[in-house]
Amino acid sequence: MPAITVADVTTLARVPEPGPTDLDRRVRSVTTAPVGYEGEGFPVRRAFAGVDLRDLDPFLHMDQMGEVEYAPGEPKGTPWHPHRGFETVTYIIDGTFEHMDSHGGGGTISDGDTQWMTAGSGLLHIERPPEALVASGGLFHGLQLWVNLPRAEKWVEPKYQDLRAAEAALLTSPDGGALIRVIAGELAGHAGPRSTRTPMAMMHATISPGAQLRLPWRRDFNALVYVMSGAGSIGPDAQPIETGQLVVLGPGDVITVNGANHQESRLAGLDVVILGGLPIQEPVAWAGPFVMNTKAEVMAAFEDYQKGKLGVIPATYVPHGSLGGATS
Ligand code: FE
Repeated sequence: MPAITVADVTTLARVPEPGPTDLDRRVRSVTTAPVGYEGEGFPVRRAFAGVDLRDLDPFLHMDQMGEVEYAPGEPKGTPWHPHRGFETVTYIIDGTFEHMDSHGGGGTISDGDTQWMTAGSGLLHIERPPEALVASGGLFHGLQLWVNLPRAEKWVEPKYQDLRAAEAALLTSPDGGALIRVIAGELAGHAGPRSTRTPMAMMHATISPGAQLRLPWRRDFNALVYVMSGAGSIGPDAQPIETGQLVVLGPGDVITVNGANHQESRLAGLDVVILGGLPIQEPVAWAGPFVMNTKAEVMAAFEDYQKGKLGVIPATYVPHGSLGGATS
């Protein structure tokens, strides 16, 4: 059950009904995310695997982290690693993650919070569960999305925005059958918590069994729908979708998603993340943690990293495992 829920959705603002001439976006592709392991070994689904970057633009990559129920001692994070040239957006649906960087920044995000990190010119960071959670184990479920930066913004100073769960704008569909959490961008005049560097929108919707969500969507944005859990259908032809599938939609004004009548008993409904943005339309040169415009810029990023120009690991860092009791 996602951390951000509402007891009575009828108290929320409603998404307006689309107009009669509004065009429903058709399904262009449905792909199924392969399962892999990230960092020190936490399970992820690679949501965008096999999809052309031009269909994703301005997005690059997305991992669904978990959902996993850890035993005591099991929770895992990442080692220190660099980034340059893009942004990472970490949305914790359930559980807790700590982050720390080579500029002395850091913080904790949990249960519906989002961390928006603009890597820009470059930094080193680490993402991991806190000591108490490593010791206790528990539920962990989140998303990490990579958003590209245009050429002119790749060299901006690194920056964090920690967005608390309570700051997400919450809306419902006309019949109250869906809860929509606006993490970024805006929906029908209701804006998410912070500004983005390029125009984009990110929503997390829970659609009740049997309910339909018709979401007005900017015509100049692309439209991606990823199923985090549950079953349903999408588009004017009601194409079936299920957990771990990514749908690329074609042009239009409206995104239509239906929750299947029958869901696994542990689920409240169909949970999807809906993304859209204005394509940047620049060449992408990408290797590992660096996303630039040319190969030479990527090579320079590796060199700068090796020379320590992206930062050094803070002296105060205490790896977990050295505190006793915890394993890593
Ligand atoms: Fe990272």
